[in-house]
Amino acid sequence: MIGFTKPLTKRAKAVVTGAGSGIGRALAVELAARGGHVVCADIDETGAKETARLVERAGGTAITAHCDVSRSDDVVALRDRALDWFNEAPTLLINNAGIGAGGRTVGKASLDDWARTLGINLWGVIHGCHHFLPAMKEAGRGGVINTASAAGFAAGPRMAAYNVSKAGVMSLSETLATELAGTGVRVTVLCPTFVKTNIFSGDLIESSVAGAAARIADFAGMSPEKVARMTLDDHDKGRLYVVPQLDAKAIWLAKRLTPTTHARVGGMLARLAPFAPEEEGPR
Ligand code: NAD
Repeated sequence: MIGFTKPLTKRAKAVVTGAGSGIGRALAVELAARGGHVVCADIDETGAKETARLVERAGGTAITAHCDVSRSDDVVALRDRALDWFNEAPTLLINNAGIGAGGRTVGKASLDDWARTLGINLWGVIHGCHHFLPAMKEAGRGGVINTASAAGFAAGPRMAAYNVSKAGVMSLSETLATELAGTGVRVTVLCPTFVKTNIFSGDLIESSVAGAAARIADFAGMSPEKVARMTLDDHDKGRLYVVPQLDAKAIWLAKRLTPTTHARVGGMLARLAPFAPEEEGPR
């Protein structure tokens, strides 16, 4: 807890990136159910439009914005569109857009894949915080929710770029928690394990791991709707970390209590994981 209790997610004036699918869509619709107004931002315009339709059906209002979060100029345009529509700074910024990436070990994953993963998953969140926070701080109220992942602390094998991007989002959020103290703006970072979304079909997750990951998510993953409700409720309680699932909580605890053993056990489990052998050849 970081000392806030006032609910921010009722009648929010919110910007959600990656709103065209999965967790972002569920967050937008849950905000609508709480009487919210949502700017649904995504590179996928069709997905964003469908989310806007669902937001209105759930009782909220929505506009869409085409935005590639890896591009600073796009995020500036998103901020200006939101300021224009709300006629004030948003009360909630959700930096959620992201892609999955994995399949190869360090040295075999291409540098292009590293750059693309960090460009969207980490720089996307940096752009959001950099361009929106001055207006939110000036307003003296509001909140930021950044979607990281349990990967940000679990550091599993064959997904270094994804892990690094999410650890970066956690560190950025922790830094903000200190910098925003006393400004009236709060921050929350979401760290789930598997959630049933479209993330496993992305082109940076190689088929050697994508199939197994999608099956685990289907079997044991949480619904994006439940993750969205928990995240918004925890944000209202002023919680910095949202670690929704039991397995995520267990990994979080193990990592903090016994970091070296955590890494050793992680390596042993990785050798038993139901992944196909790592692919060879250029990437
Ligand atoms: P998803 O693929 O269903 O949704 C991601 C959305 O982000 C899509 O609509 C996509 O078009 C959009 N997007 C991708 N690149 C973008 C860009 N450059 N600019 C703007 N939008 C972009 O996946 P999801 O699971 O809902 O992912 C949402 C977030 O949750 C991601 O940050 C992801 O890393 C994180 N996450 C997901 C899981 C999981 O198991 N699904 C677990 C932990 C964390």
